[in-house]
Amino acid sequence: MKAAVLYERRTPLVIDDLDLASPGAGEVEVRLVASGVCHSDLHHIQRDTPTILPVVLGHEGAGIVTAVGPNVTRVAPGDHVIIAFGPKCGECYYCVRGMPYLCTPARPARPRLFKNGQVINQFLEVATYAERTVVSEKNVVKIRDDAPLAVCSLVACGVTTGIGAVINTARVEPGSNVVVIGTGGVGLNVVQGARLAGAARIIAVDVRDNKLEFARAMGATHLINAAREDVVERVRALTGGYGADYAFEVIGNPATINQAYESIRKGGTAVVVGVADENAELTIKPVWLMRQAKTLMGCAYGSARPQVDFPRIVDLYMEGRIKLDELITRRFGLDEINEAFRAMEAGEVARGVIDLA
Ligand SMILES: [Zn+2]
Ligand SMILES: [Zn+2]
Repeated sequence: MKAAVLYERRTPLVIDDLDLASPGAGEVEVRLVASGVCHSDLHHIQRDTPTILPVVLGHEGAGIVTAVGPNVTRVAPGDHVIIAFGPKCGECYYCVRGMPYLCTPARPARPRLFKNGQVINQFLEVATYAERTVVSEKNVVKIRDDAPLAVCSLVACGVTTGIGAVINTARVEPGSNVVVIGTGGVGLNVVQGARLAGAARIIAVDVRDNKLEFARAMGATHLINAAREDVVERVRALTGGYGADYAFEVIGNPATINQAYESIRKGGTAVVVGVADENAELTIKPVWLMRQAKTLMGCAYGSARPQVDFPRIVDLYMEGRIKLDELITRRFGLDEINEAFRAMEAGEVARGVIDLA
């Protein structure tokens, strides 16, 4: 079975032949159809993170169930599924409170990928840059058969994180003024989440004009190129001098998180969606946090409950209420995965997708 393996940080992924375990109790095997290329994968290639190497990255996948282990009740062979990443034990402190995006399982998943007997780790327990994968049945979400699977792979991370940040995390009200800083794959979905929520002004901020045009296509009403314009000043000018009701930071950089915080009005909410460097620190004057009654909040995985949110998002797409096809600017084969990362880093694509079927 072919998969893209990260053996050493800051080196290209290696397309390798790996052995995949048969599904054990509560596990399912999925033949992957497509996997989106997400910036979080790139972080683990380029940065020193807690992820243990060697690892098969990829966490934005969809496919078809090919086999199930004992005691699997949720899906059967032939089912179309989107794979939710990260542990989803269903039993821990967070899972039982409806916060599976914070799942802290009692036990890690067993090893399921091997090369000559050596364990190869599955990134976030899913490892979707591969032809097939074996995951817990709790990580798969059955979706309707008539939805195109390759397009729906994006729901596994970028779409759910972006739309979820607006709908689940911040609960943006109709008529709100929303700023989105960073219009990559996730940021574009914050933009369309804001449109879905009925935001009045959706102000997209980026340093690349082509990415701002992607944002316009997804529903942004105003564009700010941060390389040429003062973001906070422009946002205030566009919002009657007050600042936005909500700002979403979708880069993961202390400077742009501060920009998001400065862009909101008194009593407004700034949401951190971007993945910052492990050691990055944020400086905010607490006295102003108090006097201006602002809220600064974090958002993991769009505060999503995948079993609820994935089918909903697929329905929204099938009814023409959100755009997914427009997010995919380029498709790649598995053997072109390093080129896919290069294209993402260069800002050439809204989303790249790896075709695996
Ligand atoms: Zn992702
Ligand atoms: Zn859990």
